[in-house]
Amino acid sequence: MRAWEVAVPGPVGGGPLQLVERAEPLPGPHQVGVRVSACGVCRTDLHVAEGDLPVHRPRVVPGHEVVGVVETLGPGASRFAPGDRVGVAWLAGTCGACRFCRRGDENLCRRATFTGWDHDGGYAEVTVVDERYAYRIPDGLSDEQAAPLLCAGIIGYRSLRRADLPPGGRLGIYGFGGSAHLTAQVAIRQGAEVHVLTRSADARRLARELGAASVGPAEAAAPVPLDAAILFAPSGDLVPGALASLERGGVLVIAGIHLSDVPPLEYQRHLFYEREVRSVTANTRRDGEEFLTLALRLGVVATTVPYPLESADRALDDLAHDRLTGAAVLRVATP
Ligand SMILES: [Zn+2]
Ligand SMILES: [Zn+2]
Repeated sequence: MRAWEVAVPGPVGGGPLQLVERAEPLPGPHQVGVRVSACGVCRTDLHVAEGDLPVHRPRVVPGHEVVGVVETLGPGASRFAPGDRVGVAWLAGTCGACRFCRRGDENLCRRATFTGWDHDGGYAEVTVVDERYAYRIPDGLSDEQAAPLLCAGIIGYRSLRRADLPPGGRLGIYGFGGSAHLTAQVAIRQGAEVHVLTRSADARRLARELGAASVGPAEAAAPVPLDAAILFAPSGDLVPGALASLERGGVLVIAGIHLSDVPPLEYQRHLFYEREVRSVTANTRRDGEEFLTLALRLGVVATTVPYPLESADRALDDLAHDRLTGAAVLRVATP
């Protein structure tokens, strides 16, 4: 099969990824083999390719927004049948026994493993997944529509929950890529007033189309005091401004897995009056199930930019340089 590997992590312009021919992986115990139809391109793939995240598996195949069809069953696998359409997301495994797993916070498990970092992912024609961590893809979502929901969508949903936005509250969204444009739709359809702050003019246009109450540049002050804000842009420089835009008691959620350094904060200006900063670490399977159901119910529509599998390096380069609006999706197999 064809697969992309992270050969030598480094700046995406230097070509860290290589397209190679590999043997198709076989499912192990409780795993299923999945013929990949589509795979979303997430900023985390960029962090894996560029080495912002340390190497967990040499020559890993990136990609953790995978939609495909179950083809083979490993020993003991019984949850799916060949032909079922499934999604493979970032969370690939947890220990199931630690204090976090036992209290329902499996996203905090220290022994968690991740697709496209610890395990080979979906920038390939076939992948394998532990069936307990796969999602059934609802009918009514195309492969290309479903792919970005599996990380961008789920992480955005968890970020929105972490924001504790009051009903009808004012939400600021900093950065407006794959995850943000899905999260904004959920928030707006649930009654929030959403203000989008992003440097890309195309993204500002999309935000308006999706119903944002206002749009502006990322460094600008929000036009109204915000009950909560979510920082999707991986830039720590935006943290003080976002905190200063919060209403008393407001919450700033940092959605990304990687953030550049945060400049010094002034307690009175940025944190006093019970403003809070919260991070987001991966997601639980429950977040994923809830979000997929909600996305279908609320009619969340991903703006996708398709690329053929052989152009995965170009998709990552476009993502790195803000040349795409919405979510890039690799078309791996033609439906
Ligand atoms: Zn655990
Ligand atoms: Zn992701």
